[in-house]
Amino acid sequence: MRSSALGLLALAALLVGLPAAEAVTSAPLPVVVLDPGHDLRANPATEPIGPGSATRKIKDGGGTHGVVSGLREADLNLRIALRLRPLLERAGIRVVMTRTKTAGTSIGNIARARIANRAHAGLFLRIHADGSTDPRARGTHTLYPALHARWTDDVYSASRRAATLVQSELVRALGFPDRGLQERPDYTGFNWADVPVILVEVGFMTNPAEDRLLATPAYEGRAALGLCRGTMRFLGRPASRCR
Ligand SMILES: [Zn+2]
Repeated sequence: MRSSALGLLALAALLVGLPAAEAVTSAPLPVVVLDPGHDLRANPATEPIGPGSATRKIKDGGGTHGVVSGLREADLNLRIALRLRPLLERAGIRVVMTRTKTAGTSIGNIARARIANRAHAGLFLRIHADGSTDPRARGTHTLYPALHARWTDDVYSASRRAATLVQSELVRALGFPDRGLQERPDYTGFNWADVPVILVEVGFMTNPAEDRLLATPAYEGRAALGLCRGTMRFLGRPASRCR
């Protein structure tokens, strides 16, 4: 009796659930803004690190480059973003890119944040690779905004949750050491964002082993898959749709 009653309830829930599921598919698609870091040229102009701030930082120092591959960080970031875009789109996400080629002077971080704000992004995903003077430094880490009244209090918790999920999927996909999460109070692109924002450092281009791997289509694909899976989990959607 009891199990058949439960079965009927489950059937009823399924039937009631069907129109709701249809309604979801006609709702506006969630938007993810992909921000491949840097560009062909650095931008030495300065900008305030947050709205109304007297502290200014350079717009873009230009990024690092591969010690073995010779690849520019801007190009690696873009390669990963261009692989991630179709994965997300096939998974039902609308993607907006801050740039689609490496061809000019970097627009700076306020401009990047404004693109994400204007798009009402569900996630503003900034893609970078790391550099260090120590060639042994290696691994993946993810940065998110520190809590700052009026600047990040509206996006702090969601950003931290996104960082946790994306870092875990990215480490799983790449197999590089897990350097964990880091809060940053000083990232202009975080402080100007009105939407959840994270910045991934996929690996170290100054580490010969990681540089060699990251310059391959296989590892760029792995990075894109990990980023897709983490993003989907953050948006409350099945990561299995990343394929
Ligand atoms: Zn960078």
